[in-house]
Amino acid sequence: MKRILVTGGAGFIGSHLCSRLVEEGNDVICIDNFFTGSKSNIEGLLDRHNFELIRHDVTKELLVEVDQIYNLACPASPVHYQYNPVKTMKTSVMGAINMLGLAKRVKARILQASTSEVYGNPNEHPQPEKYWGNVNPIGIRSCYDEGKRAAETLFFDYHRQNGVDIKVIRIFNTYGPNMNANDGRVVSNFIVQALKNEDITIYGDGKQTRSFCYVEDLVEGMIRMMNSREGFTGPVNLGNPEEFTMLELAEKVLALTGSRSKIIHKLLPKDDPVRRKPMIDMAKKELDWQPRVNLEEGLQRTITYFEKAVNVALQ
Ligand code: NAD
Ligand code: UDP
Repeated sequence: MKRILVTGGAGFIGSHLCSRLVEEGNDVICIDNFFTGSKSNIEGLLDRHNFELIRHDVTKELLVEVDQIYNLACPASPVHYQYNPVKTMKTSVMGAINMLGLAKRVKARILQASTSEVYGNPNEHPQPEKYWGNVNPIGIRSCYDEGKRAAETLFFDYHRQNGVDIKVIRIFNTYGPNMNANDGRVVSNFIVQALKNEDITIYGDGKQTRSFCYVEDLVEGMIRMMNSREGFTGPVNLGNPEEFTMLELAEKVLALTGSRSKIIHKLLPKDDPVRRKPMIDMAKKELDWQPRVNLEEGLQRTITYFEKAVNVALQ
């Protein structure tokens, strides 16, 4: 069993990852500044002897002794990462430098949670790892996209320059329980709106596409990547290649919730990517990984979670 650090461990994906790692008997240290994460996401872990929570910001140095580091700290929803864009960039860049410095000092293996956003508004479809992307360097999404791209650069330079044992994954849109009801991302927005019988807000014409991965599948892929063969650094895409338009997603949510909500259209945010779908051949070959949960089943599980969460919020 290993000593494992998870940054951003109180967030949506981090909380599922911490649960899995604790269940497997590892000693898990979760650090979080609670910008978008919450203690309620990890409530069930707080009294476990092999789980430790530290309030800490990754832009500051951290001294712990661990074998593995999963670096997830960074707001992921456009609404939240655009709230304080300078801080978002600092979190990605300084967070990467601090965690890579720690990995170098204690000789830990370190995995970076990068993103499909490094492909920007892609000219290649679907996106293979070798595609370099089409990213606006000065737009409203740049603090996140370019921050993550800079973090990837730092990972590969620490690897080449200092021999740090790195793993880089590019996560495509992931959803599931523990998303914040106010997160602002499309799956949580549509489900919460449908459960409250409020208008479903489609930005633009709704013909833009995304490929949605259920969180349990993603966490399996992350752990496989962390424990993959020596010398395999990635970057590797992790996502579900089933592609849907936002209109199709809205219709599925309406059907599954039986909601009376109506679909309305709002302005499309600037630089919103038109389409996104991962090529996952590398993950299949190197990690023997592919998603198992289809959108319908994943949405159903997420709706069950939000039914409780929304009820609590309304009380
Ligand atoms: P999230 O916002 O729920 O989780 C991020 C966590 O990081 C939160 O708990 C937040 O409080 C914490 N955090 C933010 N800034 C911090 C800082 N400076 N110091 C310490 N903690 C900080 O988002 P998520 O969806 O769970 O995403 C987790 C990671 O996966 C992020 O790095 C994100 O970029 C990446 N990712 C997610 C998706 C997705 O679809 N969910 C897609 C691509 C990449
Ligand atoms: N979106 C939408 N309605 C919402 C929230 C998002 O139509 O209430 C759209 C958004 O414009 C984008 C897609 O859904 O085209 C996915 O948005 P999200 O913020 O979830 O993720 P990202 O754009 O980072 O992939």
